[in-house]
Amino acid sequence: MPLKVAYVHSPELESLGNIGTHPSGRSARVHRLIESLHLLTETSPDLTESADELPLAKRVRALPASRSDLLRYHSQSFLDFLLDPQQEDAEDGSSSCDSESDETVSSSSLQDYDSPPKKKARTAQSAAARFGLQDDCPAFPKLASYVEWIAGSTLTAASLLVTDKSPATDAGDTQGSGTTDSQAVDIAINWEGGRHHALRDKCSGFCYVQDVVLGIDLLRRSKLAVQVADESRCVSTRKPRIMYIDLDVHFGDAPAAAFKHPYRYSLPMTTSQKRQPKPTVMTVSVHHQSPGFFPSNSEADLTLATTPTPCTVAIPLRRGASINTYSRIWQKCIEPLRAAFEPDYVVLLLGMDALAGDKLVDGAANWSTQGEGGVTWCIQQTMKWGVKLLVLGGGGYHRANTARGWAIVTSTLLGRVIPEDVPAHDYWREYSPSFQMHVQPTGAKDENDAEYLARIEQEIRGVVERVQEIYSP
Ligand SMILES: [Zn+2]
Repeated sequence: MPLKVAYVHSPELESLGNIGTHPSGRSARVHRLIESLHLLTETSPDLTESADELPLAKRVRALPASRSDLLRYHSQSFLDFLLDPQQEDAEDGSSSCDSESDETVSSSSLQDYDSPPKKKARTAQSAAARFGLQDDCPAFPKLASYVEWIAGSTLTAASLLVTDKSPATDAGDTQGSGTTDSQAVDIAINWEGGRHHALRDKCSGFCYVQDVVLGIDLLRRSKLAVQVADESRCVSTRKPRIMYIDLDVHFGDAPAAAFKHPYRYSLPMTTSQKRQPKPTVMTVSVHHQSPGFFPSNSEADLTLATTPTPCTVAIPLRRGASINTYSRIWQKCIEPLRAAFEPDYVVLLLGMDALAGDKLVDGAANWSTQGEGGVTWCIQQTMKWGVKLLVLGGGGYHRANTARGWAIVTSTLLGRVIPEDVPAHDYWREYSPSFQMHVQPTGAKDENDAEYLARIEQEIRGVVERVQEIYSP
């Protein structure tokens, strides 16, 4: 039976993605290429079967997130500031706002209505710095809408996967209210999501809102009943387990921090540790690491076998990681971690900035789309697990290559053959000079040599044993 694939997309979401997601205009290129490959149904809010012969992803309209949705992760003061209409005017405010709007400072976090204009400006700058609304995260028109729609799009995608009608997704949670068992999908795609650097109270790394954590949180609260036969042949249930795999070239710092289990495990594990609540989320980030590479964070260091938190895994790679490296990391690290954790849902963050030729990271990685260890192969390996997939975007600063990568993933998830050439469409000229769908590697050296990979594998093997011990009966 073909898998049911949902594709979250709407004109409002695309328009906001074009404005607020760096690089601007990427969203339009991604969706136009995918549409030109005829991979989607027409706008289809219900999930009725398609009459087409070839498998198609059902296009599903996103819903914007509510404030209560956002408060599941973000702080009140951060949302007060970020969703204040004042921020939406910030870009224009310096040059064209009239005196009335200059005087309107409505954020409760600022509290300086009676201040002189210069002091107000300094206070506003201070608040912007505190909440990270500067540098690579500038304010822009429609910022509040962008935040609500990006978060809402991932919540919409996550809710499509949920097969029960749990209290968590019914009560006060608009995202889950339209889904029933018969409508649940196997795979939900949201290329506008994947803002994995936004922190609880700070914008960071082109990311203003933490849709990834919100989406995982929705899955985690879905109370999916998983029947497990124990040694006495009784049948019990357990909370769903979610495995988050982040293949963006940058460390997935915010999801890793958000789901780091509060309980610690010693080596060897004590009897009381064995009885404590087990983690329901495992995060695995495969990323580039070198001095000064964003985000500079010691949590991005290789997770050692002795870690007190074996379900928070970081796998740093050296410069020029090729499909050979990705193949080994997948087979020796990701596969064993998956087998030990036995997730019910997998959330894939597929930033395409690890692809060869990405303009921002300049050779940090040299990933490509074909061959063992390539993008297509990794997606095929994931599909073999037979678990529900939430597939999110992320970084990707070469617009054409990012569109290629995500179109290839969409096609692979549908089991469709990827054509050799980019079809004619509005942005076709930007695929010059090759005009081919696949992204080829450069000739750059892969600095992840055998010795380095062996060290990674040795540590992760130890982590896998720890995970096995945590979940063994
Ligand atoms: Zn990135």
